[in-house]
Amino acid sequence: MMLDIRNLAAAYGMHRALAGVSITVAKGEIVVILGANGAGKSTLLRAVAGMCEGQVQGDVYLDSTPITGVAPDLIVEQGIAFVPEGRGIFGEMTVAENLALGAYSKHARARQAENLARVYELFPKLRERRSQMARTMSGGEQQMVAIGRAMMADPKILMLDEPSLGLSPLLCKELFQNLAKISKTGLGVLLVEQNAKQSLAIADRGYLLENGEITGQDDAKALLTNPAVQAAYLGGA
Ligand code: ATP
Repeated sequence: MMLDIRNLAAAYGMHRALAGVSITVAKGEIVVILGANGAGKSTLLRAVAGMCEGQVQGDVYLDSTPITGVAPDLIVEQGIAFVPEGRGIFGEMTVAENLALGAYSKHARARQAENLARVYELFPKLRERRSQMARTMSGGEQQMVAIGRAMMADPKILMLDEPSLGLSPLLCKELFQNLAKISKTGLGVLLVEQNAKQSLAIADRGYLLENGEITGQDDAKALLTNPAVQAAYLGGA
């Protein structure tokens, strides 16, 4: 397994946000975590990225190397890139400048030209708009900038926190298709989503997170037809 999360727990003071969470992501695999508001989805990704403000316990391995307790910038350097909720791009900088910021590790700088070509191939619009201020890009385009910037870190694993939030149905579709393309280049993708239908459609596997615990896991196709998943996440369809 490329990413191996074992028995992860997190707490904010007395509030337990995660307990006993174990999740794996293989090379080229898309794994989706489904959970209601407050289930602990963001906490999970932030804990893996070394950015959780709470107390974290448990183990995270990337290609068998433990990364628990490692500083966030070193985790990026080891190969995990994180696109946070709300994207976190710099509005007063151009698209190209935002992308360049993603290549800050020594390893990523050495591969900057190659990765930029890859990002522009994936998102031709970013090449067209490379001199445009990021804040003037549409929501969907800003999401491309955020994903492109994460790709500039030359990651093995890409983690995304609700990337479809605020996007129109058409842009959601495009976003998920792009994630499928990215995974085909050999990256592992771990994403947290409320859009169960479209994310499961492109995912290989999924986990259900409820009140900080994994309450189910299965192949994405099986989850799409699972009655409990349909009731909770697919509008009872
Ligand atoms: P949402 O979909 O609404 O973003 P989520 O599944 O991502 O929710 P988290 O943001 O991980 O959930 O929050 C899990 C629990 O931990 C919630 O009860 C939340 O209030 C609490 N929590 C999150 N961040 C903090 C923090 N920095 N300090 C204290 N409590 C926090």
